[in-house]
Amino acid sequence: MELERLGINMNTKVEGIQISGIRKFYNKVLEVPGAISLTIGEPDVPVPEKIKMAMIDAINDNKTKYTPNMGLKELRLQLENYLSSIGISYGWEEICVTVGGSEGLFAIFTALLNPGDKVIVPTPAYPAYESVIRIVGGEILDCRLNEDFTLNIEELVRIIDEEKPKMLVLSYPSNPTGAVLSKKDQEALYSIAEKNEIIIVTDEMYSSLTFGEFYSVAQNPEIRDKVIVVGGFSKMFSMTGLRIGFVCAVEKYMRQILKAHQYAVSCAPSISQYGACEGLKSCMQHVEAFKGSLIERRNYVYERLRKMGFKVELPRGAFYIFPNIEKFGMDSETFCERMLYDAKVAAVPGTAFGAAGEKHIRITYCIGRQDLEEAMNRMEEWIHKL
Ligand code: PLP
Repeated sequence: MELERLGINMNTKVEGIQISGIRKFYNKVLEVPGAISLTIGEPDVPVPEKIKMAMIDAINDNKTKYTPNMGLKELRLQLENYLSSIGISYGWEEICVTVGGSEGLFAIFTALLNPGDKVIVPTPAYPAYESVIRIVGGEILDCRLNEDFTLNIEELVRIIDEEKPKMLVLSYPSNPTGAVLSKKDQEALYSIAEKNEIIIVTDEMYSSLTFGEFYSVAQNPEIRDKVIVVGGFSKMFSMTGLRIGFVCAVEKYMRQILKAHQYAVSCAPSISQYGACEGLKSCMQHVEAFKGSLIERRNYVYERLRKMGFKVELPRGAFYIFPNIEKFGMDSETFCERMLYDAKVAAVPGTAFGAAGEKHIRITYCIGRQDLEEAMNRMEEWIHKL
């Protein structure tokens, strides 16, 4: 009201986007006492002890000053090693440490996109892509995934031929679907990148939580000048609140990304950088153990949902499952509202991940086994009464 009286206009691009539908629903859960939340995408394990100790040591050693804008060299060297162990080759000078993957994405889109630039984001997808692309004035091209959440390569090729987009944004394993990239689709993407003037941004936030073979479009050095990688430690080492991510890109992109990053944040938090560095050096067995526990919970939730009659794809990475709710005759928002208030179980409506997410809900199965069982029991009971 006050602003209207003063005649102050907000930025129309920012005004035009919504706050994240994931957070919106997460906040609703707080209104329902006793509700079990399967909404937020956060590991349920603590940060590994060695990471905690490295951060405590860093504080005691007064390592609390600015670090280089691109991040600590020792962390970037560790990242170079880690990425090479999963077939992605970037030198430490091509890696910039960011404030979570979120800031990495912001810096990439800010640095590369001009107003009106066309971007393909196959949906359903993590909502930040579309929102940030719109904030910087990019234009999103509609492209839907297949029913089993694989890429519709023919559709992708058609859109690229017709619209000549500047950028394609991918993320595997996927939030919200848990799908991974197949070798066949990886090869199709290589061929798309070779034949077209297009930049592929690949969000590798969950790549350490791939349950089987890991394939990424970033694994082909021949197209590295067309690929930008973003990743982070939020999910890998359960460091969500410690805010460390990274971007990898060849020099021509990195030069610009660095400017966006520098003027936004100067550098990522020093203490957390020391923690992440220790994590890469000595905590990879924690990631494997965490992955094992996720596979076990994935199997459990998948079987329970199938028995309840959901049409559901088996997730192959990350910690989300994205069942189809079409047969219950409600849109995803209504389904989640009713499930929250009637069954006291909260999931995220599929539409939080774009219009293509309708008819689905996202369940995060990364919570304690007892709560997970209780949530599944409540859902089952509620569904039988529908
Ligand atoms: N990318 C994907 C696919 C995510 O799911 C998330 C967080 O949920 C992020 C990026 C951002 O992660 P961070 O906590 O590192 O900012």
